[in-house]
Amino acid sequence: MFNVCPKCGEYSDEKLISSDGGFAICQTCKHEHPFLRLPLLIITGASGTGKSTVALKLVAEQSAVICLDRDILWRGGIHYLALVCNEVELTRRLKARPAWRKSGTEAVLEGMTKFNQWLIDNATKSAPPMALLDTSELSLDESVDATKKWFSSLMAPSL
Ligand SMILES: [Zn+2]
Repeated sequence: MFNVCPKCGEYSDEKLISSDGGFAICQTCKHEHPFLRLPLLIITGASGTGKSTVALKLVAEQSAVICLDRDILWRGGIHYLALVCNEVELTRRLKARPAWRKSGTEAVLEGMTKFNQWLIDNATKSAPPMALLDTSELSLDESVDATKKWFSSLMAPSL
């Protein structure tokens, strides 16, 4: 859809982007239409840190957010937010899940605890570095608010 000029209707998959980066220019009629080159914001974290719940709530609330369920390749700015929590709380949350999810098994608990700790230990050393959000003491709404603040801090320069 982006490849069809809204003014002249010509199709082209080649774009000229204005020097300020804010407009895509039609090759045929030179019409400029707004073009946002947005950063990719990724939320990661072990099961039980609130990642999926926070992402679902954000998608329901914010039209500017598109939720992708898996890692994808992306050229340009990538920013990571890792949701973490302390081991006691992580274990409590995983064990509290319905049995069919099998989240409370020793193997899952061990794997998620290790991943959670790896994120805590490596967030600042990874490339790119990850921001950390500790959800141990936060309600869902507080986690969502903190995630929104993180979004806003990254999106502000392009608005
Ligand atoms: Zn055109």
